[in-house]
Amino acid sequence: MKVRYWNDEIETMPRTGLESIQLIRLQKLITRVYTTVEPYRKKMDAAGIAPEDIQSLDDLRRLPFTTKDDLRDNYPFGLFTVPMEEVVRVHASSGTTGKPTVVGYTQKDIETWSNIMARSLVCAGAHKGDMIHNAYGYGLFTGGLGAHYGIERLGAAAIPVSGGNSRRQVTIMKDFGSTVLLSTPSYALNLAEAMDTLGVDPRSLSLRVGIFGAEPWSENMREEVEQKLNLKATDIYGLSEVMGPGVAMECLLSNKGMHIMEDHFLPEIIDPDTEEVLPPGETGELVFTTLTKEALPIIRYRTKDISRLVYEPCSCGRTLVRMEKVTGRTDDMLIIRGVNVFPSQVEHVLMSVDEVEPHYQIVVDREGNLDTMQLLVEVGEQFFSDKIRQLQGLGLHIQKEIKDYLGVTCKVKLVEPKTIERSEGKAQRVIDKRKI
Ligand SMILES: [Zn+2]
Repeated sequence: MKVRYWNDEIETMPRTGLESIQLIRLQKLITRVYTTVEPYRKKMDAAGIAPEDIQSLDDLRRLPFTTKDDLRDNYPFGLFTVPMEEVVRVHASSGTTGKPTVVGYTQKDIETWSNIMARSLVCAGAHKGDMIHNAYGYGLFTGGLGAHYGIERLGAAAIPVSGGNSRRQVTIMKDFGSTVLLSTPSYALNLAEAMDTLGVDPRSLSLRVGIFGAEPWSENMREEVEQKLNLKATDIYGLSEVMGPGVAMECLLSNKGMHIMEDHFLPEIIDPDTEEVLPPGETGELVFTTLTKEALPIIRYRTKDISRLVYEPCSCGRTLVRMEKVTGRTDDMLIIRGVNVFPSQVEHVLMSVDEVEPHYQIVVDREGNLDTMQLLVEVGEQFFSDKIRQLQGLGLHIQKEIKDYLGVTCKVKLVEPKTIERSEGKAQRVIDKRKI
């Protein structure tokens, strides 16, 4: 397969060259942030570090972290480095707890982002002539518009369908000949269901590749999506505090994660408890520093996403480091009777059981002083019957698999097909009643 690049000079640059670009950009950034943003200056002063102390990329670890709370404390625009007249767009993330976090972009930031997103699309094999079905939500969420500008920059045709109304989406896919799908992985499954309901065979569609992100998903889920939608499923990573979609993108040849657009985003992996930088190759919390953003650069942003960096060369020829699929978030982690459980691990187990569908919910509660975990799983249409004994057997089988893989005991409740609520964006996998 011939590999295409958006910017071959940067994407295949020897790492020493890349690192010198990163250092120059980092030094410039730290100086600018120190002189223009008071909260950053205060934090650096308190840590006893000045811009001129940044002499190598290793010195990055001497700088204080930035968290979502810093963005909230300076709500809405307190961390912006430019006057508002230079801001051409704002986005915000939904504030499930407290205030939303607000991010801003200058004209140049939008240019940069569009190019990064176009690069990501090419990385997934998209090209001019593609009909790109963008089912990420348009609005304050960065997904929709972020991807949209990249599609136009690439020169492909954007179908700005946004989220929701799955049946209409399927009709559009069929009539317009969509070749590339962008959505959350859970929404991709909703689309597969809608196809099924409408009697549309995915093999009759033109879909070739799916670019899925915005929520953690397992390798088994990937297989499921590929098989149900008859396409190659790739993984994209991004978060609004750092930029939006396109921070990292999986190439078609990688089986070890997504290439980070390192000329713009400098990654680190830390131990979330000790906050120490971990040696290359270890798993921990991802931290990003933006190198080129103007309106809202961010220094050592703690993403809470758990991943690992892979430095070995990729067969696509890109020298950009890869980050492994995000396996969970530090704040998604459930502690059930002292055992750490990630929803993605539960998903991994469920996807290996043929009789169930990839729709599930984990309900955590407390009886007396003990945590309980109940798993609601949809049984496949074909398997669902009133043969109670078979269903009981299936429930016990899942319970055993979970116990073997995760070391926790859970009750399994099998439910009828299509009874677990479908989401149009990120799926709600966990209901933790202990916090209520
Ligand atoms: Zn690659």
